Amino acid sequence: MKVLVLNCGSSSLKYQMLDMSDESVMARGLVERIGIEGTLLKHRRMADNQTYVDEIPANNHSESIKEVLHILTSPAYGVLSDLTEIDAVGHRFVNAGEHFSSSVIVNNEVLKTLETLTDFAPLHNPASISGIRACMEMMPDVPMVAVFDTAFHQTMPAESYIYPIPYEYYEKYRIRRYGFHGTSHKYIAKRAAAMLKRDISDLKLLTCHLGNGASITAIRNGKVFDTSMGFTPLAGLAMGTRCGNIDPSIILYIAEKEGLSIDEVDKIMNTQSGILGISGISPDFRDVEKAAAEGDERAKLALQVYVHRVKAYVGGYIALMNGVDAIVFTAGVGENDISMRSRICKNLYNLGIMLDEEKNAVRRSAAIISDEDSRVKVLYVPTNEELMIARDAVTLIMHGTDKYKMDWKPVVID
Ligand code: AMP
Repeated sequence: MKVLVLNCGSSSLKYQMLDMSDESVMARGLVERIGIEGTLLKHRRMADNQTYVDEIPANNHSESIKEVLHILTSPAYGVLSDLTEIDAVGHRFVNAGEHFSSSVIVNNEVLKTLETLTDFAPLHNPASISGIRACMEMMPDVPMVAVFDTAFHQTMPAESYIYPIPYEYYEKYRIRRYGFHGTSHKYIAKRAAAMLKRDISDLKLLTCHLGNGASITAIRNGKVFDTSMGFTPLAGLAMGTRCGNIDPSIILYIAEKEGLSIDEVDKIMNTQSGILGISGISPDFRDVEKAAAEGDERAKLALQVYVHRVKAYVGGYIALMNGVDAIVFTAGVGENDISMRSRICKNLYNLGIMLDEEKNAVRRSAAIISDEDSRVKVLYVPTNEELMIARDAVTLIMHGTDKYKMDWKPVVID
């Protein structure tokens, strides 16, 4: 089976073409600056590293997808003889609210539901919907599967997702914790269980997705118990440019003092805060760590704040789950940043966490890096959201018992 995976951002589109007979990536690429002058397509065919980078005539996601399908079937750069080779398209969808707790095959009913959810992720959800619609038009006989960042977290208990604000806001607007990066947390939790040779349903895990965006999830017996992101991906840890949890009154205070609108302050919290905000240098940990090593005090402080927050979540979730069997790191920082993993795990021996610094320092694709005597295992595992999306697509099409599979038929777009 060949599965195309699409990840539509507000002005970008990432894709991978996977051959699921051996789960290999045939081609991957990215369209940048969608809707802005100079839309760029970067494409790579994996077998021979043939690459294509050029401007494309695309004004929106639909036109960008047309260009992607064109290059995937082109003799010079492609990997398919024609589009009929595609068995399914998996679409990443950021926030499905409470509507979907697992991936679904998209039919007209599902599509209508998704269209009611744009408020929940105003930058991402409309882009994903236009991606789904464009694919349906260009490949009307190919099943479309939607995979949701929020789905895995729908197993959270109410005490984790209800905010202590008037309950009517949950009832009226469904304001609650949703959690994000769910596909990544689920993937690394399963891989960690396999590496530990344990059944996920017998484990308590903390999965730390530490990238530009960052979240920590507490997983008990294969189900999410709590997660650090909230109603939006702004909550929780300090991140590259996002503030994470702050006193909500700060928003109003800054708005008043600086004469800014709430939208402007919201933008500051999303794009000018976090590691960038404290250091004033960069949202990229490599830049901030270099500056800290050279003695920059604010860079040092930014990293200290980051570590402080991560440790507070680790400790908090261990208390909530009455222990943990393993901590799993992933994403740009979690997979690559040896010194950050070391700082996070330092002085946690009272919680049974002891890192083996030598194992931590050896670069491998995935590894168990805790000391032999550590009660809690520590691992790092590269995430692979695209593979997870493609696997869900294959599962739904081949073996799905999901109700949406049963009435799936080529979709007529109204
Ligand atoms: P992601 O969102 O998972 O792509 O992660 C991107 C972030 O990972 C970048 O902004 C960097 O801060 C961080 N990163 C990537 N590679 C390294 C590295 N070798 N050392 C430290 N941080 C890294």
